[in-house]
Amino acid sequence: MSPLKPQDSQAVPRFCGIRTFMRLPHTTDLKGVDAALVGVPFDTGSTFRVGARFGPAAIRDASILLRPYNPSLDVDLSQLCSICDYGDLDVVPGFTEDSYSLIAAGLGKVLDAGAVPVLLGGDHSVTLPELRALHRIHGKVALLHLDAHSDTWDQYFGHPYTHGTPFRRAVEEGLVNPFGSVQAGLRGPLYGKNDLQEARDLGYTLVTCREMQEKGIPWTVQVIREKIGTQKVFCSFDLDVVDPAYAPGTSVPEPGGLSSGEALELIRGFGGLNFVGFDVVECLPPYDPTGITSLLAAHVAYEFLSLTAVGRGESF
Ligand code: MN
Ligand code: MN
Repeated sequence: MSPLKPQDSQAVPRFCGIRTFMRLPHTTDLKGVDAALVGVPFDTGSTFRVGARFGPAAIRDASILLRPYNPSLDVDLSQLCSICDYGDLDVVPGFTEDSYSLIAAGLGKVLDAGAVPVLLGGDHSVTLPELRALHRIHGKVALLHLDAHSDTWDQYFGHPYTHGTPFRRAVEEGLVNPFGSVQAGLRGPLYGKNDLQEARDLGYTLVTCREMQEKGIPWTVQVIREKIGTQKVFCSFDLDVVDPAYAPGTSVPEPGGLSSGEALELIRGFGGLNFVGFDVVECLPPYDPTGITSLLAAHVAYEFLSLTAVGRGESF
């Protein structure tokens, strides 16, 4: 099969056609596909604002202006990769554990086919079944988690599966290697003084947003690269790591975060890491009247696709 590429926008205008991510072909046939965009339209795990079920559609809508050559990483996606929009995984709105089963099984098919998934959330609860699927194929992976929140609380309202708990569950279930993982961008009010220490006690290395702002993005990149090393790594990007001035359409906004430029610069520093998958989560179109958050989410997913192409020497 010839490589799957974005539609030629010099031949068919960008605003024409049915929306797929970056105007890529929509197919569930992953033969020869290097990377697949996968929507996870689920938001029952949210403890506060809801609406992330509409995130994948909004991100696709915002993605139509993306162009295949990424000058920051010097990669041309149309030359180096075969990429498709796989569509959305099945979920059961209102029923988290049923949805977890469907998400893990659905993503498992993508992983079995050998494609690197770039998942579009969804609230952050979806990362746990994603990690379950990855674990079946790859074993324990490192986690590169960019978020204003650690999401390592034990439970909300007495329940273990929410968008505030996936990274405690992931350690308990043995899905990630916390000692080789980093959570970065943490900020904002907490329930208690020990909240972040609890994440450290699980094994995670934490980089606060204040540290990132004081020491800079290149320093942050270096800390993360040294910790991750050559491990297989999954990158989970919660859009609230970015300041609500740039990304207002998130579930739990915290002022004082990164700019969108800083966030993209950070991601571009990860070229050459051994990524087995990515997600960008917590995009809530109902709280995003100008579409600025979904536009950023589309660009984050684009940088993730570009990272899968870094180091691919041969073109088709
Ligand atoms: Mn989160
Ligand atoms: Mn968050």
